Amino acid sequence: MNKFGPLKIVYSDNFLLHDTGGGDHPESAARLDAIWATLRKGPLADNIQVLEPRKVDRDLLLSVHSEDYIFRFEEACLSGMGMLGHPDNRISYDSYEVALLSAGASQSGIDFLENIEASDRVFCCVRPPGHHSEESLALGFCFLNNVAIAARYWQRAYKRKRVFVLDFDAHHGNGIQEIFDEDPDVFYASIHEHPTFSFPGTGYEEDTGTGAGEGATMNIALPPGATDTEVIKAMEERVAGAIEDFQPDCIIAAAGFDAHEYDDMSGLAYSTRVYGHIGTHLAAWADFHCQGRLLSILEGGYNLDALGPSVEIYLGGLCLKVQ
Ligand SMILES: [Zn+2]
Repeated sequence: MNKFGPLKIVYSDNFLLHDTGGGDHPESAARLDAIWATLRKGPLADNIQVLEPRKVDRDLLLSVHSEDYIFRFEEACLSGMGMLGHPDNRISYDSYEVALLSAGASQSGIDFLENIEASDRVFCCVRPPGHHSEESLALGFCFLNNVAIAARYWQRAYKRKRVFVLDFDAHHGNGIQEIFDEDPDVFYASIHEHPTFSFPGTGYEEDTGTGAGEGATMNIALPPGATDTEVIKAMEERVAGAIEDFQPDCIIAAAGFDAHEYDDMSGLAYSTRVYGHIGTHLAAWADFHCQGRLLSILEGGYNLDALGPSVEIYLGGLCLKVQ
């Protein structure tokens, strides 16, 4: 055995069937191929076991998205419309079914953590991503909010009431914020490029939740060009304190890798290495506060050379055995 512990990856080749129309669209099946190409030949290869995703339960899906929106999404795919609402949101005939599987992957991962081994690390290697999709809106390549669905599942199926979400994608997860804005039991922390400069234009620091949810949202907006120093500082000085205060029952990472310096989808400039630090911090927090209950779900990351190594080093950080 090596210095890493067991890693479960929730994955299906069916995720490749969501066809965004060819080489010009950044959210492509090649992203997942790039991740696997790196993982299969790297130091984690012997530690990986693949878990089969299942389609999201209908009632769980409807706890996050409106029925009207779900029908529109399904109909758009089956009728060959090619996009949902905006050209960014390209769809194909299979996209609806693939999105149901992407959204349900967390159910397989959470079932494993709860019923088999909470101390193993679980990564949902899925597409389409989810954090921009709102209750009734597709946005930024996202259709169903995978992270929000995971949070609701953990609450409903296993009574893990207090869920902490850390979103380290370069972009603000407007969908997660919208869905839990008034919910005091789901804390949403996001570290992203400042909304003045970046899609989708939300995630200002003064947005801290509304009503009963006031104080359960933390937006950390970094200036363009921000590097490892700023993201590590944000993790250690702000996110750590928020977790400590919130005392979660479980943690979900919205794991996006498009803040990498080689990824031109954002102006942030993280190194590959920093994702390892993010992983070790998350693992330590999960072990300390919630008996290891931590689920990571892939969001963005579009530079095909940077994505595989970034994911690998993140997972290495998660799985690193504490001496
Ligand atoms: Zn992103």
